[in-house]
Amino acid sequence: MNAEVRTMGFPGRYIQGPEALSQLPQLLVELGARHTALLADATVRGALGARIDAALAASPPGPRLTATWLDFPGECSARTILTFAERVNACDTVVALGGGKSIDTGKGIARHLGARLIIVPTIASNDSPTSRLIVLYDDGHRVAGVELLARNPDVVLVDTAVIAQAPARFFAAGMGDALSKKFEAQQCHLAGGRNFYGTRSLPTARLMADRCYDTIREFGEAALRQVAKQRRPDHAVERVVEATVLLSGVGFESGGLSLAHALVRGFSAHPVLGRFLHGEVVAFGTLVQLVAEGRPSAESAEHAAFTQRLGLPTSFSWFGIERVGAAELDEMARITCTAPYIAHLQPAIDAAGVRSALEAAHRIGSHFGA
Ligand SMILES: [Zn+2]
Repeated sequence: MNAEVRTMGFPGRYIQGPEALSQLPQLLVELGARHTALLADATVRGALGARIDAALAASPPGPRLTATWLDFPGECSARTILTFAERVNACDTVVALGGGKSIDTGKGIARHLGARLIIVPTIASNDSPTSRLIVLYDDGHRVAGVELLARNPDVVLVDTAVIAQAPARFFAAGMGDALSKKFEAQQCHLAGGRNFYGTRSLPTARLMADRCYDTIREFGEAALRQVAKQRRPDHAVERVVEATVLLSGVGFESGGLSLAHALVRGFSAHPVLGRFLHGEVVAFGTLVQLVAEGRPSAESAEHAAFTQRLGLPTSFSWFGIERVGAAELDEMARITCTAPYIAHLQPAIDAAGVRSALEAAHRIGSHFGA
């Protein structure tokens, strides 16, 4: 390892387990909160709001805590963040509940106010909870930019009883987003790429990305069955949530990304693929990356078989696309190559290379169901 500055970041605290949400009042006390903004959409507030209000009303003795609920409108935009930040400008703490976009909006409000931040993911569909990244969208639901918090969230509070109640599709998508991290961190490292702190990665980040992959390989199928059938956490679910929320999040932010996530840009611009979950397109993108790395096709096929067992895509057919035209492939490849992580691949790849990897991955993956 060359002697140079390397950076790694973590959330201030990570708490996970069934009924972990009951710790919220005590956490607010520890953080010195006096005025808290709670952000959630109508569904999440309907499921958890009364419980949280009751817990806050019965909170430990000390200075009185006031809480203001904000109704997340469904999209994370600069305008929504500004409107909310002005409405709760006396708040010293933000609690963001929900999926990736609600979480990112909460991050944006906390950034604007310089407030403390508690993230409560209610689905485990992607790697946003632990990171500093805020992905902003415009009114047409297109990615408009990425902003960064000054520091990672103060607390990530993951109630696995809540996560296990969400549709299994979200749980599977989280694994799709997480399985790529081992390969992306490796490639970013080999190509001399930078992580999200602007430095090369420490071996610890790659260790966490490797562990993320191994954990899902070991527990992924059992955890998915448990969530789909029992809808409550067991040991396998706990292990997989740790992988998809903590290891995947720290793995990408400190380990860096590569082709699988560069492809998200190309896939998102496609009229059909753009409607699927982030983790679903990343799952197919990972197979494309393995092909582009020049791994033996038996290895790519083995990965595709596992991906398929998690109910995740291994070809365009899974998305309902039977034939992809040459012009569509060219456009996906061209847009993919505008992502900065495209440079984090060895051997280096251009649009023609991305296109042929897309075709080869689709061919290999087509053997594993639709
Ligand atoms: Zn991702």
